[in-house]
Amino acid sequence: MADKAKIGIIGAGLMGHGIAQVFALAGHDVKVTDPSAEALATLNDRIRRNLEDLGEDTSAAERVTPCADLSEAVADADVVFEAALENLELKQKLFAEIEAAAPQDALLASNTSVIPITAIMSGLKNKARSMGTHWWNPPFLVPLVEIIHTEATDPKPAQMMFDLLAAVGKTPVDVMKDVPGFVGNRLQHALWREAVALADVVLDCTDNFPARFEINAACVRARRPLVSGAAIRFEGQLAVFDLRRGGPCYRCLYPDQGDAAETCEEAGILGPVVGTVGALQALAALKLMLGLDAQAGRLQTWDALRMQWRSHKMAADPECPVCGEPHV
Ligand SMILES: [Zn+2]
Repeated sequence: MADKAKIGIIGAGLMGHGIAQVFALAGHDVKVTDPSAEALATLNDRIRRNLEDLGEDTSAAERVTPCADLSEAVADADVVFEAALENLELKQKLFAEIEAAAPQDALLASNTSVIPITAIMSGLKNKARSMGTHWWNPPFLVPLVEIIHTEATDPKPAQMMFDLLAAVGKTPVDVMKDVPGFVGNRLQHALWREAVALADVVLDCTDNFPARFEINAACVRARRPLVSGAAIRFEGQLAVFDLRRGGPCYRCLYPDQGDAAETCEEAGILGPVVGTVGALQALAALKLMLGLDAQAGRLQTWDALRMQWRSHKMAADPECPVCGEPHV
């Protein structure tokens, strides 16, 4: 591998653009592809803004090239990171395309945080150079990267990945067994479980789906009531989930959207809308603590522009991956 390995990245979302930033700042040329023209169009600006916030050299963003074509992004890559949506079929299809278009000796890594690497790479002709690299969000701030070895991963390419990640300032760790959730996530889940089990009621005021899904899953496991609030633009939402009384969990309502959801930064938030939703979450928590009806199982939506409230009954999804019946 050349002194400054060429990097190809599949996915220009939250993880993809963050990983691109890490390598660009360390002097690597990076090509990024994404099916969304909008994600590609904003890629360099997002990286430049991040670098500015961090007080880093913003010219590093110029080392990142958006590519509409996957084959163009990986054609001369020494290392390819796939950071697409968490969908096994999609990832398998992408790796078939990557293997056809990338150099024979390029390292191939998936940045999944939940899907077994062995399954993702099962269709590759040459699995020896394939592995998982599990980064945490945001990739430019969290040092830890797990390198997940499958039974087919050759030690040499894994060592090359280790050295590359260490050279760009990360703290790589070899995970020698392709277990579901790898090691870091499993430890994090244990912490979530413990934190939630200590509380009588949990209020979720986070602004992103990955965090909301984690909190929901921990509440379902510990059978703790969850008061979820959200606010964006002039829209507010409030929902109480209490599986002790049946009904849906938060995950029944929302599919995994990966990086696709709007962020507060992009869509904008209004203080009074957030304040109102927060006050109503506190009210719902008091009702739960007092044993009063907190309208569990109903989603309340607020159009703050027209001052209209709507109340929707929520149904449990029997196929829900969190609270649904386990399939044996
Ligand atoms: Zn559910």
